[in-house]
Amino acid sequence: MEIQLSGISKQFGQFKALNNVGLNIQSGELLALLGPSGSGKTTLLRIIAGLENADIGSVYFDGVDMANTPLRERQIGFVFQHYALFKHMTLRENVSFGLRVKTRAFRRPAAAIRARADELLKLVQLGGLEDRYPHQLSGGQRQRVALARALAIDPKVLLLDEPFGALDAKVRKELRQWLRDLHQQTGVTTVFVTHDQEEALELADRVVIMQKGEIAQLGSVDQVYEQPASPLVFDFLGDSN
Ligand code: ADP
Repeated sequence: MEIQLSGISKQFGQFKALNNVGLNIQSGELLALLGPSGSGKTTLLRIIAGLENADIGSVYFDGVDMANTPLRERQIGFVFQHYALFKHMTLRENVSFGLRVKTRAFRRPAAAIRARADELLKLVQLGGLEDRYPHQLSGGQRQRVALARALAIDPKVLLLDEPFGALDAKVRKELRQWLRDLHQQTGVTTVFVTHDQEEALELADRVVIMQKGEIAQLGSVDQVYEQPASPLVFDFLGDSN
């Protein structure tokens, strides 16, 4: 799925969160939105998802304006920093939930839903833990369940908002590598929000650097590092957080 953003602006009260953002996200790529806190990354992600409307501007999926497309038809998998798993449901039930929502109209048999949920849990390397509850897992494992659930709807687009932000450095590193591999297997167009440069560097095909609601630079990881587009980008990249 190719995503095109054209002239996106969004204001909260007097504050301009996004100012005339234009961006083409290529089909199948893994794009990182990188930038300091408050630069508009999450707002942009939420606008792509349809969770927030732009004041001005348009979002196109494969050339189709999403303005009149209901959320559930956008087929977007969304993963947040804090998992948002259902506590009272087993892992299998958590993943199945996405499948039921998607397939209600077709009445997919329960056995088929169960089999697909188990397959997805295997894909995120949690085979054998299907009957556990989220509180019995580590943070990294929970985030993998959240990913399995997001993948259950066969998303055309996967949006991740600081998905590893709550985890410790070692687990974050493991999950980066793992997400990279998973992305290669699934080939789903993926947009990944982070304020962690190392994360963007290791994961992304291309990086967008956001500053004060605008795109300060877009390019491959090498381009962005070798030729910062402005002193602001240079300063941001030089700041190791
Ligand atoms: P980032 O993800 O880069 O940290 P955000 O997109 O979350 O940045 O936020 C950009 C700015 O917009 C922030 O200053 C934030 O306070 C403001 N903002 C975001 N959402 C809202 C909202 N619903 N109401 C008011 N201000 C908001």
